[in-house]
This record gives sequence, C-alpha cells and structure tokens, in this order.
Amino acid sequence: MHLGVDLDGVLGDILAVSVRALNDYFGREVRVEEVRDYDLSKVYGLSREEIREFFAARQDLLEEMPPMPGAGPCLQSLSRRCRVTIVTARPPFQEDMTRNWLARHGFAYHDLVLVGSHDKREACRRAGIEVFIDDRLENALMLASEGLPVILFAAPHNRSPELPPGVVSLEGWETIYAYLRCCLEGAPLAGLGGGL
Ligand SMILES: [Mg+2]
Repeated sequence: MHLGVDLDGVLGDILAVSVRALNDYFGREVRVEEVRDYDLSKVYGLSREEIREFFAARQDLLEEMPPMPGAGPCLQSLSRRCRVTIVTARPPFQEDMTRNWLARHGFAYHDLVLVGSHDKREACRRAGIEVFIDDRLENALMLASEGLPVILFAAPHNRSPELPPGVVSLEGWETIYAYLRCCLEGAPLAGLGGGL
C-alpha cells in the first residue's frame, strides 16, 4: 500500500500554535475547539490578506508546531509496512525547514512533496498514492472525487454531517493506525470500499 499523508493539521498541530499566536497578537481568546472553519480569517473576523500577512511574518510557527499526539510512533510503524509519502500544500521554498522539523521529531517517511497549492490531485496521482490522510474537508472531497480513498483527520473545523463514499472521518492517530493495520492485514475497510 502507498499511503499519502498531509503535514499541517495531521502530523503537526498547526492549529494549536496558530490560535495561540493570533490570540496574543489580536488580543482575542479563541479556543481551538471553537474553530469551526479551516479559514482562520473567518474565525477571527479578519480579511484573508491580513491573515496571509500575519502567517508570512510568522514562519517560526511552523518550526514551533508540536507533533500531533501519536503521529510519530504510528508513522514509524506504518512506514515499515507500506510506502509513506508526505504531500503538503506548503510551497517548495519551505522544503529544508519542513525536512528539519520532520527529522527533529523523528518522523519516518519515504518521500516528501511540497505542492504549493491545496490541489494535491496531480501530486497524488503521480506518486501512485492509494489512500490519503488529510484534515481539510475540501481536500478530502476533491481527492475522493478522483477515486482516491481519503481518511479525514477529524477536527472541529471539518465536521460534516454527510461524507461521500470514499471518505471516512477518524479521530486521532491511534484510531487511524488501527484502521490501516486492518487494511494491511487484508481486512475489508468499512467506508472506503475495501479495495485498497
Ligand atoms: Mg492540513
């Protein structure tokens, strides 16, 4: 199996550091559990330009980002049993910083692709990825519409009452690992068509 994994919001808890920094800067008290939209400009009532400028000036947040609980050990085990490619929307110029962060936290993987856009369809197709893990609902729907099964990394901002066939929402790395282990052992997977 070739597993594709998103970085921000899946391997690293980008929301925790982003919300803390935005609260400090704009004098707000937003809690992570209250973030119901992937687009933080809507959460903070700011323009997209203001948010873009804020994060362009705070690339240190990407370095400070803590790993998502359980992500390191789970990816370590998975990378011994299947191919793992990290596919991120980050721009290519952030590659060194991204590889350093992954190394610093002991992440095991085979390839890293920095797409520079949220549209990961072409990158996944080219790499031959067979199942993808992402936390952005729009990404999950886009990839699933191409026939790529997606595990949606459950978060308050991606709750969706109804998911299309080919997308399952799972909470946390332990659950995802258990789910993928069943797949690697040949069990049919509920919700993803069983044909991985
Ligand atoms: Mg993400």
